Amino acid sequence: MNVAQIFDAQQNFFNTSTTKDISWRLEQLSKLENLLKKNEDLLFKAIKDDFEKSKFETYVAELSFIYTEIEYCRKNLKTWSKRKRVATGIANFPAHSYIIPEPLGTCLVIGAWNYPYQLSLLPAVAALAAGNTVIIKPSEMPARTSAAMAEVINTNFDPKILYVAEGAVEMTTELLKLKFDKIFFTGSTAVGKIVYKAAAENLVPVTLELGGKSPTFVFEDADISTSVQRIVWAKFLNAGQTCVAPDYVMVEKSIEHKFLNALKEEIEKRYSNIKVTDDHYLQIINDKNFERLVKLIDPLKVFYGGQSNAEKRFIAPTIMHNVIFDDDVMQEEIFGPILPVVSFDTIEEAIAKVKAQPKPLSLYIYTKNSKISDRLLNELSFGSGAINDSLMQLSNHHLPFGGVGHSGMGNYHGKFSFDNFSHFKSILHKPFWFESSMKYAPYTDFKLKLVKWIMG
Ligand code: NAD
Repeated sequence: MNVAQIFDAQQNFFNTSTTKDISWRLEQLSKLENLLKKNEDLLFKAIKDDFEKSKFETYVAELSFIYTEIEYCRKNLKTWSKRKRVATGIANFPAHSYIIPEPLGTCLVIGAWNYPYQLSLLPAVAALAAGNTVIIKPSEMPARTSAAMAEVINTNFDPKILYVAEGAVEMTTELLKLKFDKIFFTGSTAVGKIVYKAAAENLVPVTLELGGKSPTFVFEDADISTSVQRIVWAKFLNAGQTCVAPDYVMVEKSIEHKFLNALKEEIEKRYSNIKVTDDHYLQIINDKNFERLVKLIDPLKVFYGGQSNAEKRFIAPTIMHNVIFDDDVMQEEIFGPILPVVSFDTIEEAIAKVKAQPKPLSLYIYTKNSKISDRLLNELSFGSGAINDSLMQLSNHHLPFGGVGHSGMGNYHGKFSFDNFSHFKSILHKPFWFESSMKYAPYTDFKLKLVKWIMG
């Protein structure tokens, strides 16, 4: 079957209303969880072969997210799917009102390569939980990982429920011609625009989980040693190939040197003995990204690191200092293990610099002073963030995850994922035993007075 036929089969199956049954949905989720658990070795090996991602990072930053989300659905799906009664108001007496969450239909999930399992399967879990059928188009860049997902899912799931369509631009282009009921895209802002345009042709609702440059502010009152520990971990996890990684640091000038030295010490402590084939550090995904990243490293501005090995697609954790917003490294999302440090004198100047950039996906603030953090939270718009931490906001499924402006639209995780793949059908339900004559002609002055009085 080609993807157009699979799409038709999914739509036909959706129309049988089988997916409306909550137990059926929970069965699909359990089946997916069991399959992933049973095939963990295959999944671990594929991603290790693709870009040296270790079992630890794969489990902690990918599979555990999926298992936790399924468990959370298991506990809450019945409640989320229930009709929710809401107030009605006197004007509609004696009616009552409620909201029915319903699935959208057949959904397309397009994944990015950096957390290939998490970014393809987490939205798919949400789509299934909400009662949809799903086609996943994982990124083709980690080819073995994409093949592993296709093998595990396509040999065990009926394609009319869940299917992995492997391929690159041609496959995505073909899929985007189909009239899906929802498209959930994770990837770059540039491709996000292509997806958004294609979706508009068929009026398909989209969620765009995009990227951008996520700033990290460090103020002079911050606990420097804990701050650098958290920043270094968040930046160099996945070798910096994380959409919500601190892209660059804005540090208060008075502590610039102390901060840079602390960064260096922390990197030496965590990564001094890394080799590309070990379990503590990743490769760059491909030659193209390797070359792009190497070009961003200005040797005159390297404070620490800067070494690279093209054959192994290895770039050492690198700190750049004396960086200004005109530098090449500040012109695009880095998405690699290079951390530029920009210093600032006043908070006004720092805010103005960041405000001049597109709205970031994430933003991090290191300070003990809540007046400072509140000011930044109030003045800067961004998707999600943390105070005195980085990245960890993602691990709390009570927080919606998504961008704003150029970093995306829509959000997910936990209940927000269920909502993302649902339509909320609003119903006013009225009995027959009473009908006021007020809204009917003739429209007398008395009726107008009465309406004004009732409606306040
Ligand atoms: P990408 O935009 O190149 O690719 C994403 C998906 O789009 C892939 O499946 C790819 O096959 C497909 N694609 C690529 N070019 C296409 C085209 N011309 N037409 C149709 N489809 C096309 O992104 P990427 O390189 O996989 O990921 C890196 C980007 O994704 C970064 O900007 C990063 O910040 C962002 N990202 C965002 C999140 C998030 O949750 N917000 C998560 C991870 C990555």
